[in-house]
Amino acid sequence: MLASSNKTNFDVLVVGGGHAGCEAAAAAARLGAQTGLVSLRLDTIGVLSCNPAIGGLGKGHLVREIDALDGIMGRVTDQAGIQYRLLNASKGPAVQGPRTQADRKLYREAMQQELAATDNLYLIEGAVGDLKIDTSIEGLILEDGRELRAPQIIITTGTFLRGLIHLGPKTWPAGRMGEAPSVDLSKRFETLGFGLRRLKTGTPPRLDSRTIAWHRLEMQQADAVPTPLSFMTDTIAVPQVACGVTYTHSDTHQIIADNLKLSAVYSGQIDGIGPRYCPAIEDKVVRFPDKTRHQIFLEPEGLDDIRVYPNGISTSLPEEVQVALVKTIPGLEAAQILQPGYAIEYDCIDPRELKPTLETKRQPGLYLAGQVNGTTGYEEAAAQGLIAGINAALAAGALGAANGAQAPFILDRAEAYIGVMIDDLTTQGADEPYRMFTSRAEFRLQLRADNADQRLTDKGLALGLVQEPRARAWKAKKAALAEATARWTNVVHTPNQWAALGFPVKLDGLRRTALDLLAMKEVTHAALVAALPVLATARADVRRDLEIQALYAAYLKRQQADVDAFRKDETLRIDPDLNYAALPELSTEMRERLNRAKPTSLGAASRLPGVTPAALVALLRHVKRAA
Ligand code: FAD
Repeated sequence: MLASSNKTNFDVLVVGGGHAGCEAAAAAARLGAQTGLVSLRLDTIGVLSCNPAIGGLGKGHLVREIDALDGIMGRVTDQAGIQYRLLNASKGPAVQGPRTQADRKLYREAMQQELAATDNLYLIEGAVGDLKIDTSIEGLILEDGRELRAPQIIITTGTFLRGLIHLGPKTWPAGRMGEAPSVDLSKRFETLGFGLRRLKTGTPPRLDSRTIAWHRLEMQQADAVPTPLSFMTDTIAVPQVACGVTYTHSDTHQIIADNLKLSAVYSGQIDGIGPRYCPAIEDKVVRFPDKTRHQIFLEPEGLDDIRVYPNGISTSLPEEVQVALVKTIPGLEAAQILQPGYAIEYDCIDPRELKPTLETKRQPGLYLAGQVNGTTGYEEAAAQGLIAGINAALAAGALGAANGAQAPFILDRAEAYIGVMIDDLTTQGADEPYRMFTSRAEFRLQLRADNADQRLTDKGLALGLVQEPRARAWKAKKAALAEATARWTNVVHTPNQWAALGFPVKLDGLRRTALDLLAMKEVTHAALVAALPVLATARADVRRDLEIQALYAAYLKRQQADVDAFRKDETLRIDPDLNYAALPELSTEMRERLNRAKPTSLGAASRLPGVTPAALVALLRHVKRAA
């Protein structure tokens, strides 16, 4: 069991023990900052509030990036993963998403153990009611009167700010089921002048596994060879389970239609905007009237847990309607509901209030990460937590490493999905809950889940964030990759020489490397190694990397030109305190838009909604004059 600390002075304080908070606190502490993590209940640290799964399309990329920087989510997940599936396995590596269902208990335990074993990290149980601010941020005031001091504070309160649960016509204040909301903190943000908005999300009823007719259902098995979420995991030791697949029935749709006015989403009771990509079942039935059935995955919540998560029927209909509709679903005729589904409405802060470091523009020293910034999902939250934790620790000057890494630590859109997400949030805002997708990344051929370590681990090492075991593993992999790539590019033959080896190549006189040959559809790694044993490579991850390098070589070369153009605009820095009123070429509207957003580069200005090409030209002129 985690114990609450009495320490009161810190370099960094993190509020919230969800995915953003855990990642933020672990990163700050690892960088040497004396870090306090304050959460309402220590026993709920690491709780998966909704679906018991980590990763997926776009989200798996985020987990791999967190992991490449030696964040904790990937390693913790691999201690709890009970059904690994590589999504989009039949498509190209750029859009494949590693995912696993997670045993809730194992996940929470692994997360708590990880935090308990982190040096410089102190856990404090308590409800934060206020921020202590004089001219700068000074600390936190807990609802029981305790005061904690730190010059850098990260708020990661998820769905708790003025949270309101809806279950049919019933509503009650809550942060999530069974937990109190944070009302005072929300009011404090309001008085500080932060832009707040109302969003909503929902969760399905939980079912008793013993009452489901599993034998009548189609079952989906885990992959025969699991793809771990962490680069540090060699084998998955947790037993793997199957999940059931079923569908709604026309009777289900009829019950929903008959009771629509009782759904909190349709009665007008909810003002908040919900996640478009994760709609309630009543939303799906209304929006897609031609669809006769909707798929439901019945996901066990753990190895020795009777609860089942019916993925696909999130709802805020009254409990008795949920009971009736579940009974219409094949295989669930006798299913018992253990906890009804519900919707929750909460305040989030307009992420355009944030710098790319996730520090607020309005209040230096105050950072925000996770669902409080308008995102949805564990992975999005954890990725933001990591960036906020790193930047808060750097700003506190508590750098453990002697290698002089400087604040800020920012990843751009060409480096990481994390960069794409934070840039989207800080330039576009979040009118609806923001979820990561591969389609959000313009440079996705190079931002792959498989190469996150190649993109980011050296950056983590330079920060002093990457610990010894990963540093050693990465150095060995990097050397093996470089050596194998050199070997494959040093084998160069004419078309006739390749033909003599059994590889018919166009007789165009061009000399080709073994890597060029591997790029050909009809040529396999195994065939090349059989013909030229010098190409043999022992490591499976390096072999896979060679194949992907070969597959994408031509496209990546082309994409590099786009990346170079993007980088050029990013290097054209704009002073965040620029007085736009002093630029006569800008219209009043443009001045207002730019002044509100305070973009830090011409690239960021170009991505602001409504900023015209003429305004960009005027800004470019100004940047060049100022240089
Ligand atoms: P959370 O995990 O919510 O953690 C917030 C933490 O802050 C908690 O530890 C809490 O105790 C602490 N806290 C709050 N206020 C205070 C205070 N004043 N003082 C001290 N501590 C405080 N995601 C999806 O991807 N898909 C979904 O379908 C989905 N549905 C959801 C449905 C529901 C009902 C809920 C509640 C969440 C859902 N989520 C879903 C969202 C997912 O749970 C979150 O995105 C993710 O957990 C956010 O992580 P976080 O760290 O930002 O916040």
